[in-house]
Amino acid sequence: MPELPDLSVVADALHAALVGRPVRMAEAPGPLAVRGTPAELAALVGQRVESIRRRGKFLRIELELDEVACNPMLTGRFQLADPRDKKPTRTAVVLGFGPRSGGPPDAPAWTHGAAWLPTDDAEPEVRYRDPTQMGKVYLRPPGVDRHVPGLGEPDQGPDADDPALTLDVWRDRIRRHPGELKNLLRNQSFVAGIGNAYSDEVLHAAGLLPFRKRSTLAAEEVDGLYVAMRSTLGAAIEILRDRVPPTFERQVRDFLAVHDKGGQPCPRCGTRITEVRAGGFITSYCRGCQR
Ligand SMILES: [Zn+2]
Repeated sequence: MPELPDLSVVADALHAALVGRPVRMAEAPGPLAVRGTPAELAALVGQRVESIRRRGKFLRIELELDEVACNPMLTGRFQLADPRDKKPTRTAVVLGFGPRSGGPPDAPAWTHGAAWLPTDDAEPEVRYRDPTQMGKVYLRPPGVDRHVPGLGEPDQGPDADDPALTLDVWRDRIRRHPGELKNLLRNQSFVAGIGNAYSDEVLHAAGLLPFRKRSTLAAEEVDGLYVAMRSTLGAAIEILRDRVPPTFERQVRDFLAVHDKGGQPCPRCGTRITEVRAGGFITSYCRGCQR
């Protein structure tokens, strides 16, 4: 499932590649993924891209008039492609873009001059593909009040990497959540963007067990969890910026310390990593150095 680090890299890249371009074509080969009418989809054509941002585990494409909000759920992926490239199977939505006169001034620094950026006269496509078809693409024209479940207040708290989520705000917010730490980190109304994989990673970095209750944490442990969250997500984003482009549809997870690495030695203490399967999800942690 794409989480904050994965989607941050995709959002930055698509922002740099597509802002300023008009939508040239909008198609839904997998119409079940789309929440919106065929007329609303067709009405995207001609509108210029103003921004592409991540919010929690959503990707939000702002056009001149409409917004397209994508929730990729478990298996949704975004491909930046040339129209001549072969379309992958299970492509649900294709947006084609026209040329532009220049890239956005606010393109993230790491994308500057990247080899994978389409030239301004190119006509790139974004293909949204979802093998399990659980994800959704919501069309939000002005004047149509289409609810997007899980997006915005109160479903979403601050993004886990939001500068406004300071240590003081964190201490205050976490008080309301006495339960198990893994569930807490995955709770999008507490902080947005962290899912099953990065909750394991953050807890390993913090040296805290996933099933431990927040109510048992000392004040230093609450602070340590915040520091671990920020550093784990930041480090992952750095790695993914290097390794994901130009195949933005590929999920890179092999560098993780514990998640999905059951039976392998813990990179910090060498103890075999424990893996628990519950509710269809894998939880991985180290009994040697998490307490
Ligand atoms: Zn360990």
